[in-house]
Amino acid sequence: MQNNYDVIVVGSGAAGLYTALNLDPKLRVLVLSKRDLLLSNSALAQGGIAAVVNTTNDNVDMHLNDSLIAGGFKNNTESLKVLVNEGPQDVLNLIDLGVDFDKKEDGSYDLTLEGGHSRHRIFHHKDNTGREIVEKLLAVAMTFKNITLMEQAIVCDLKQAPGGFSLDVLKDGEHLYLNCNYCVLATGGIGRVYEFTTNSAIATGDGITLAYNLGAKIKNLHLVQFHPTAFANKDRECFLISESVRGEGAYLLNGNHQRFMSRYDDRLELAPRDVVSHCIIEESHKLRDNHFYLDITHKDPEFVKARFPMIYSKLLVEGIDMTKDLIPVYPCQHYLMGGIDVGLNGESTIHNLYAAGECSHTGVHGNNRLASNSLLEAIVFAHQIAEDINNKVDKNGVHEVTPYEFSSPIGVPTGTEPIPHGIRTEIRAIMQKSHFVLPDTVAAIEGFERIKELKNLIEKGGWLVNVDYIEARSLVTVAYLILKEVI
Ligand SMILES: Cc1cc2nc3c(=O)[nH]c(=O)nc-3n(C[C@H](O)[C@H](O)[C@H](O)COP(=O)(O)OP(=O)(O)OC[C@H]3O[C@@H](n4cnc5c(N)ncnc54)[C@H](O)[C@@H]3O)c2cc1C
Repeated sequence: MQNNYDVIVVGSGAAGLYTALNLDPKLRVLVLSKRDLLLSNSALAQGGIAAVVNTTNDNVDMHLNDSLIAGGFKNNTESLKVLVNEGPQDVLNLIDLGVDFDKKEDGSYDLTLEGGHSRHRIFHHKDNTGREIVEKLLAVAMTFKNITLMEQAIVCDLKQAPGGFSLDVLKDGEHLYLNCNYCVLATGGIGRVYEFTTNSAIATGDGITLAYNLGAKIKNLHLVQFHPTAFANKDRECFLISESVRGEGAYLLNGNHQRFMSRYDDRLELAPRDVVSHCIIEESHKLRDNHFYLDITHKDPEFVKARFPMIYSKLLVEGIDMTKDLIPVYPCQHYLMGGIDVGLNGESTIHNLYAAGECSHTGVHGNNRLASNSLLEAIVFAHQIAEDINNKVDKNGVHEVTPYEFSSPIGVPTGTEPIPHGIRTEIRAIMQKSHFVLPDTVAAIEGFERIKELKNLIEKGGWLVNVDYIEARSLVTVAYLILKEVI
């Protein structure tokens, strides 16, 4: 087992894999994944990836403007320009790498529409776009001799070392100590800090915690996006009913089975996500009723089944035939706009430490992400990072790292007792209560005090260092950073 690499990429979602594939093939690259290589938010993405490849009726300025409107004009316009200008070429690169986006009968791409977009510009693979992208990128990465993929390997600790970084990685109950010149964090989102989220089990904010503990700047962690139409069955991991269902004409109904968006916003069901989520919560207060539905029964059933095969079959298992029945929906945590603050080259405030994808804060989304801009951000800035590292290597070469001497795993005394049961549940309950669609400042102030206690309890050490411990430490750090910004 080799311990030294030129680049270690933490994460095998769209951001991590696309970074690895764009690095110079002469570099020794390790891609780590804490669970299976295919378990990620990327693999769950349904709706698609937005980019202006067809300029007949669309242009990058319109994409930029739609992103600004959705983001409340709080976006970083420099990084947003990189996103919309570089995006089309990166989407074409995905196609070259084998990603199969749906086409119409005439052979042109079947571009779809989602909330907040003024034009049809979203490339999709049925309603399963993310899995298609990740599977194809993984298949190509496996053919690259310079890329090693390692799954079930969770990074517990990250330290700066002369010449680069040292990582403490827990795999099969053993600690591996690995070194690299450049480290790219592509660890995804933080959804698991909430009771209800669309995010996969890996979304515990590990990369943000590693970067924060190393002293990197973390920005806008309170900017959490709540998707308006998660399937309302109260599972912790809520199945998403993609925005493109509304894009294809579904109506949003209240508990009285009435359309209600016209009372709140002229854009009706296709208003940006934060607006629709707010409207649902306001309507629920007004009617004292938490029941909401999507209705696409007025569309041709064959079209619905062909366009949304995954959603259709998942709902059927729940006893709902979306071609005939209303789909119960409710807002839930979906995405994080904030994260590890990075520049246009994806580098954090720590030299040679990069962040890509959902764990990063490039500023492109402003206060609210436009639908299908997130996969785009993941690949565009992954490409920027790879180019930056390639340029640095061309100029400076690669050097051996003097390994950091880890005195004990994660740098605190460890023990044999697991952390007390129920800590993660308590963190989730605090976040759900204090920082949901309409934040509750009183609950946030109270919650912050308890989160500080839990953080101290976890970080004082003396616990068994296992995956549960590492993730609980990340969740409490993320909760701490979010609430610290809002109170
Ligand atoms: C249900 C759903 C639908 C979505 N639909 C869309 C859509 O249609 N369009 C769109 O643009 N966006 C969509 N999004 C958002 C988008 O999918 C994500 O923001 C994006 O894919 C994140 O990619 P990523 O590579 O940054 O992270 P992820 O794909 O989540 O990958 C994170 C990786 O990091 C690894 N990791 C984490 N911590 C550690 C650790 N400590 N050690 C080792 N490895 C670690 C994980 O194992 C995983 O491999 C959707 C999200 C969800 C949840």
